Amino acid sequence: MRRYSVFAVAREALRHHIGWERAWASPEPKPSYGVIVVGAGGHGLATAYHLGRNFGITDVAVLEKGWLGGGNTGRNTTIIRSNYLQDPSAAIYEKARSLYETMSQDLNMNVMFSPRGVMMLAQTQHEVRGYRRTAHANALQGVETEFIGPDRVGELCPIINIEGPRYPVLGALWQPRGGTARHDAVAWGYARACSDMGMHIIQKCEVTGIESENGAVTGVETNRGRIGCGKLAIVVAGHSGHLAGMAGFRLPVESVALQALVSEPIKPCMDVVVMANTVHGYMSQSDKGEMVIGGGADGHNNYTQRGSFHHIEETVRALVETFPIISRLKMLRQWGGIVDMTGDRSPIISRTPLGNCFINCGWGTGGFKAIPGSGWAMAELVAKGEPGPLAAAFSLDRFREGRFIDESVAAGVAH
Ligand SMILES: Cc1cc2nc3c(=O)[nH]c(=O)nc-3n(C[C@H](O)[C@H](O)[C@H](O)COP(=O)(O)OP(=O)(O)OC[C@H]3O[C@@H](n4cnc5c(N)ncnc54)[C@H](O)[C@@H]3O)c2cc1C
Repeated sequence: MRRYSVFAVAREALRHHIGWERAWASPEPKPSYGVIVVGAGGHGLATAYHLGRNFGITDVAVLEKGWLGGGNTGRNTTIIRSNYLQDPSAAIYEKARSLYETMSQDLNMNVMFSPRGVMMLAQTQHEVRGYRRTAHANALQGVETEFIGPDRVGELCPIINIEGPRYPVLGALWQPRGGTARHDAVAWGYARACSDMGMHIIQKCEVTGIESENGAVTGVETNRGRIGCGKLAIVVAGHSGHLAGMAGFRLPVESVALQALVSEPIKPCMDVVVMANTVHGYMSQSDKGEMVIGGGADGHNNYTQRGSFHHIEETVRALVETFPIISRLKMLRQWGGIVDMTGDRSPIISRTPLGNCFINCGWGTGGFKAIPGSGWAMAELVAKGEPGPLAAAFSLDRFREGRFIDESVAAGVAH
């Protein structure tokens, strides 16, 4: 595949852009593959990519029921950070964050990684104590964060109402190399790199059943016929319970809708990402100028990929206390995605009761930031059949054995 470069852009500009190749191929499914990955979201595509890159395994198909990146990967608010409390979480999220730093070069696709800095506001004494503790934990984990006072918060983000009517800003947990990236580009970049390695990305191919024999998966049923496989990786976020049901096991995962919205574009006024967990909202400004706003998850389990007015009203009503500037803005659009929540708010990267079937899910409201690290860890699990150091703590067994990785503080508002 031809590389994207400044010379390629110049060449195509001169000949009316008639020479671009398709970014990835759309082949018909083969009768069988060494590995099938179900789900062409960021995590599924990153798994396939690292199977090829790290282990030389390229007889891989990624099956996607819709279009690639059309699930949560294309619906999230793109916050990237690694300031988690527990060691296993900090390790995998920091691995992911560091891979984002070089992703554009690695994938030869501009994913617009913007390490503009992420701050999590402390608006109660309880949060001050919690974030100070996280800053200390991060120092030990090698994650660069610091607890900053209200004056510094005001300098970094002048549009915040530091005095706040109900919740004055008492400080913040600041991660200077956190930020955002372009979500579609992440999915497209991985898809292009996988296709370039000879892998098959098959869209509009829904897995409807999983075949097994003697405790091992032999293939999957799809709306495009049966496809055999040597190994199966299930990476379908909010649909994980369905796929696990097809494979004959249950997961400790609940699916709920999470919503977000963007305002009309305005001039640049905010060049950091701010999360305000007490008022339960967060905001950043996109390169186009839209204020990107997200809130909490629905209070009940559901599979709707839609937003709802009352939720948006609740989020914006709370956020306007901290950011009075948004009271005059018009909303441009709103949407929802189905996120997969575990009880300890940590993901699952695990073997399953079927010997050659592996699952990656439970990233809940905050898995975009984890995509490269998760793909790295999942590829190792699938290739070797055993989890490596990044994935070991995230096995399904932890729910049976009570080894929870409690991230409900770091992921309380999540993202
Ligand atoms: C509104 C919102 C805001 C968010 N904000 C952030 C944020 O700021 N930062 C952050 O880190 N995370 C955020 N997240 C979470 C993040 O989007 C997800 O954790 C992450 O994208 C999950 O990626 P994935 O690849 O696991 O899932 P997905 O991208 O959902 O991919 C799973 C794919 O599996 C496919 N699939 C399902 N069933 C089948 C089947 N039977 N056969 C074939 N294919 C199937 C689906 O169509 C889908 O494309 C947010 C999520 C939402 C909804």
